[in-house]
Parts: sequence; structure tokens; C-alpha cells
Amino acid sequence: MPGSIALSRRQLLARAGAGAAALLLEQRGIQGQTAPGRTVVFSHTTIVTVDGVRDDVALAVAGDRIAAIGPTDEILRTYPGAEIYDGRGKALFPGLINCHAHLAATLERGFNEDFGFPNSARLAIRPASLLQGEEGTLMVTIGALEAIRTGTTTIVENSGGISRSAAALARTGLRCVFAESIRDSENVAGPMSPDGLARSAAPTFSRKLRDEGMQRINDLFTTWHGAKQGRISVFPAAALAETSSPELLQQVRGFAEKHDLGYTIHLSQSRAEVDFMVRHHGVRPPAFLATHGFLGPRLFAAHCRYVDDGDIALLGKSGTIVSHQAAMAANRGVIPPIAKLRAAGCPIANGTDNNTNDLFEVMRVALLTERISRDDPFPGVRPQPEDMLEDATLGGARAVRQTKLVGSLEVGKKADLLVVDTQRAHLVPAGRIVSAWIHNGQPSDIESVIVDGEFVMRNRKIVTMDEAGIVAEADKVGRRIWKQVQGAGAIAVPGRPLKR
Ligand SMILES: [Zn+2]
Repeated sequence: MPGSIALSRRQLLARAGAGAAALLLEQRGIQGQTAPGRTVVFSHTTIVTVDGVRDDVALAVAGDRIAAIGPTDEILRTYPGAEIYDGRGKALFPGLINCHAHLAATLERGFNEDFGFPNSARLAIRPASLLQGEEGTLMVTIGALEAIRTGTTTIVENSGGISRSAAALARTGLRCVFAESIRDSENVAGPMSPDGLARSAAPTFSRKLRDEGMQRINDLFTTWHGAKQGRISVFPAAALAETSSPELLQQVRGFAEKHDLGYTIHLSQSRAEVDFMVRHHGVRPPAFLATHGFLGPRLFAAHCRYVDDGDIALLGKSGTIVSHQAAMAANRGVIPPIAKLRAAGCPIANGTDNNTNDLFEVMRVALLTERISRDDPFPGVRPQPEDMLEDATLGGARAVRQTKLVGSLEVGKKADLLVVDTQRAHLVPAGRIVSAWIHNGQPSDIESVIVDGEFVMRNRKIVTMDEAGIVAEADKVGRRIWKQVQGAGAIAVPGRPLKR
């Protein structure tokens, strides 16, 4: 919060009152906990908890924590000096956790979603190569703005060279995991394509690339892990099965174990990847990872779209977490066998992947595509919206190894939450608010977002960034770059007439 003498005094008073408040709560038999800093009480509101939905109650945020949940009059008596946020007609949801984002890919909106995977658009110039100076960070920041507006409170940024945008990302107020991604293959740079597979030779690996990658992870970890009162974490990441040597996999996992972190990789994204691994390593991607000790409960593997029953058994037995990017998978025309992965023992988390950072949309697409792909004898009853909310909150918390801190609205946990305005034509009447919101809701129903006890959006105004300025600037940069890309050669949109 902005520092001022008045606020400091208020903080001091809140801290002084904290002990008395806890005592009062205890006397009334209300579960309570106190923390330094100011207190905000969301009064007469609806709260989505793990045990169900509670109506006409209050939630107190003291400092960075959820301090109490209970009847409004009792909570207000306990925190007489608290700021009151009128919660009537609102519902508090736990903040969403995006376990797989590439924030800078906002630049390529419109030229990635419709060209298959890997992107077959064959642009004359790579748009990212035209970014100058701080413009890469600008693209990351516009993605962070979208993430906040669509209900994300924790985001895992998966890319190489995160240090360039780390400070800007930390300033957004989001809880962040910087998953610094590395490779050591010399002759495979990115995801395998059918053409690349046809031309491919056995991968060769470079110790220099590997050492440089591990150094980047180590440097980022030293600078950022635990920063901003623990709001920032750093995890190691192997980019892809195609670009990883056994040594790289071992070093990434070793780093995670040494520092008690999670780690991640893109896995079984395409048929070309599976065929490449079989051709050059003799095994499918999950077996390659299993052989080199990479699977396990610290790993959250992104995608798992092309997995067979043997792959699913390996992933399940090892307790590997699957980060499911339902909206991007659907864009790619394929959906992973989530029901089978769940049944095999894989916890499910969610991510957005490229171009969009809207995890709210992901929950809805995940619900619908899992129902379709299950092909149940009596379809349309599994999974339920509550299951999707769980994947996007507690599932994410497990992936980022913060289940004790985030992922649900519970006393003692970090105050990472969303205030949803339920007085909307598409949300009233609503017998079940979780179902109504996931089926019919819109991200614009979110009026406030709190991370670590701080408002990052309040009454639909972003408070951590100059949103209008950033949008205008990103628009200007995007127009310049796309003019240049399109000027260098017409882009053929599959199935559409070619236009210059
Ligand atoms: Zn990805």
C-alpha cells in the first residue's frame, strides 16, 4: 500500500489491536488468526470454501492473511477498526492459479491459435525478433493485466530469460513462479514439427548450453526466490523432451530437490514429438523421462495430449501432476485424456499457454471438453464445475507447492481472492453460484482481485499498473510489428482466400 504517516499509524494501531482481536474471536469460538497490517472485512457476503458455499457471512483479511470467516456482526465486533467492503450481492472465490503461461506470446495473438502445432503460419519474419528494448517486457505486462482481470492470482511464467521481465512482473502484484526454461540440444531448438521429424538426425547435446542454462536458473533463483515477502518463487524447467539430454533432466530435478521446489516440462504435445522420441531414443516421451528419473510428484508436466495407456500408467504411478491447458488444447484440435490421467493418479492443474492468459475461460473449456471426451453411458454429469474450480485453485497450489498458503479460502491462508459481482443478468437467479459462474459467468463479473492481502484490482480498476497507458503502448508496438511482418510476405490463413 502507498506509504504515508497516516497509514503507518493505522497499521500500527491494527497491529496493536491484533492480539485483543484474536482473544475475542477465541472467546466466541470463531476460528481466528491475526497478522500485522490493516484489516478489511468483506461483510454480508457469499464465500466459496472447500466445504461448500456459505451465504451471508463475513471474511476478514488482516495483513496478508485470511484472519476470520464467520457471522458478519461477530466479525465486525472483533475488528472494530476494519475497513468494510460491502459484500452484499457479491461472492468471494479463491484466486485462480495459472500453471503454464508464456506471457510474452501476447504479441502473436491472431497468428498462432489457428495454425496448428507447432505453428505452421510460416511468417516471413518472426514477430518477437522485431521487439526493441523494453517492448518484450511490455508484452509480458499486458499479459499480466489480462491475467488479473480474468481472476488469476498466481501465475507460472514458463520461458527462457525471465530475468529481463522479472522486476516488472513482480510489480504487477501477482504471485509469481518464474519457471526458467532451458535446453541443451544443439540440433533441435523447439517443438518438433512433421517436417522437422522427416529431416531429423539423432539429437546431439552441448554441455556448454546446459551449463549456461543451469547458471541462468541459479542466478534467477538467487536474485528472486522468496522476494516480495515470498510472493515470488523460482522453479527450474526443462523446455521439452525433444531438447533435453538425460544429464539436463537430472540436473533440473536435482536443483528442485536441493531447494525443495517444483519443476516442469512440456510433454507429449504432438505426434511428431512422440515419433521423434521413439525414433531417436527408442521410447515414448514419458518413458524417456521415467528412465532418467524425471517423473514424480514435484513435476508438473504441461499438456500430455498424446499419451497412450502405458504413458498414463507411468505418469499416474509416479504421481506426476498434469498441467492441462484446455483452451489451447481445444484450439489445437485435441484434448488430453484427463479422465484417464485422473483415474491413474495424476493430480490435475490448469494453465493457459500462449496468447491468452484467461484461466477463467480455461475452466469452462476444461469442463466441456472433459465431459465430451469421457463418453459416459449417461453423459453430462461428470466432471462438475466444483471439480474444475478445484483443479484451477487447489490443483494449481499443489503444482506450485503452496497448498498450505493458497488455493482455498481458509483461515490462516494467504488472502488471494476474487470478489465476483453476482448481480448480473446471467448470474441471477443462481441456485449454485459455482455452477452458475463457471457455466454462465464472464471475467468482467470480477470486480476486485486481492493477492497477498493487497488489492491489485479494486472496483474494476487495476491499482498496480497504469492500464490505459500500457494498453495504448502495446497497441502501438503491435501495429508496428504486424505491419512489418505482413509487409514482408502475405500470410496464408488455412482455408481462407489469400489477401495481401
Ligand atoms: Zn507452453
